[in-house]
Amino acid sequence: MKSLWLFAFSMALLSGACQNNMKDQTSSNTKKPMDTSYNKTEEEWKKILTPEQYYVLRQKGTERPGTGEYNLTFDKGSYKCAACGYELFSSDQKFDSHCGWPSFDAELGNGDRIKKIRDTSHGMIRTEIVCARCGGHLGHIFDDGPTATGQRYCVNSLSLNFTPADSSKTK
Ligand code: FE
Repeated sequence: MKSLWLFAFSMALLSGACQNNMKDQTSSNTKKPMDTSYNKTEEEWKKILTPEQYYVLRQKGTERPGTGEYNLTFDKGSYKCAACGYELFSSDQKFDSHCGWPSFDAELGNGDRIKKIRDTSHGMIRTEIVCARCGGHLGHIFDDGPTATGQRYCVNSLSLNFTPADSSKTK
């Protein structure tokens, strides 16, 4: 019985250490605590999202280049997180990067809507971008953007929902 308690205590310590490491890897835009109402279980996300959205947003998948719904969309409007509805990008920030995925040179807000996380998967060192509210995977950010910001937010269409400017006026 004593060893069981010791095991549970060790696991609790380990879990705390992992969480601290996660915090260390994020950028400075994480001062506000994440709204816990968006901390759904994977089973809950599966009910909300399509299988394709779940694969990208929750399992960090990537849609095939050139296949996304918004790759060549340049209408006026805003782009929201497909999982939680957080407004992340404006059409004014979108540009044609010819890379096969929707690309933006900036994000809405003060850098507090999208979290940046060091990603060393697939033998590369990249910066993953996730929705700061629900933790949904969006894509990656690169510093090779052609505009004044120098940034290229490379985002999966499946992670976004586009709201045309005309319809947003009526809401
Ligand atoms: Fe979200």
